[in-house]
Amino acid sequence: MNLPAPIEIVEVAPRDGLQMLPTFVPTDQKVKLIENLRAANLKRIEAVAFVSPKYVPNMADAAEVLEKIGRSETALTMALALNETGLRRAIEAKPAWICYVIAATETMSRKNANTTIADGVAMIKKAVLLTGEKKIKLRGSIAVTWVCPYEGDVPPERVLEITEELVKAGVDEVAFNDTIGKAAPNKVFELCRRAAEKFPETQFAGHFHDTYFTGLANIYAALTAGFKVFDAAAGGLGGCPFAPGASGNVATEKVVWMLEQMGIKTGIDQEKLLAAAALARSFATPNQSV
Ligand code: ZN
Repeated sequence: MNLPAPIEIVEVAPRDGLQMLPTFVPTDQKVKLIENLRAANLKRIEAVAFVSPKYVPNMADAAEVLEKIGRSETALTMALALNETGLRRAIEAKPAWICYVIAATETMSRKNANTTIADGVAMIKKAVLLTGEKKIKLRGSIAVTWVCPYEGDVPPERVLEITEELVKAGVDEVAFNDTIGKAAPNKVFELCRRAAEKFPETQFAGHFHDTYFTGLANIYAALTAGFKVFDAAAGGLGGCPFAPGASGNVATEKVVWMLEQMGIKTGIDQEKLLAAAALARSFATPNQSV
């Protein structure tokens, strides 16, 4: 079996993992988590989201976190945005990557960003120009790629149409997100294969939540379809404030374990990763010692 190589794991615990926590994680603890993840050799880390602190209080210190962790050629930071205000704040903070999220259904677009699919796509086109000027890479991220908590199954053709728009706009990467963890591995394989065949030059990323324990199966499915970039969250933390039912991401330590067992070198220090995962989990259950 020919598997794509090399594989990149994008660590998302500091953003996706912490955004849903009911208690505020102090800035220095967020920085400590990111430093621990870097020590485990995770190169690209989605560190923060520039979203409304009213809805996502744990991301209120996004600019401060980015400033404290800094960036270098080997330690790349990614910041999430889902509207123009967030995008402009993110650009000001100069991360290496910005992940701009739109959704594959009208209801999710409205709930997530109070917009339409078409306006979301238009914003990505604008984001390509604005980030390009500042030499920031742009991920065009499609929420609820397979299943929407409001509209159910999403037609693959619609996702491919949105993908085509993002590819034409010139994003550096397109991400497919199983936001609520309800995608089945065969459907993941099917859509990823169609996308990889239709857009052979495009870098695709897969983002899978592990609500029904299909995260690893879905990564394997996307991997065999040709995807090379996968998001994962140390400790399996995660959720979406606008998608009822969303739970933790697939855990980075499980993904690394699986890939290494398959003979795919990740370059990640598994022991240090476990320590970072324990720290991440301690934020979710504050009474536990790390
Ligand atoms: Zn997520």
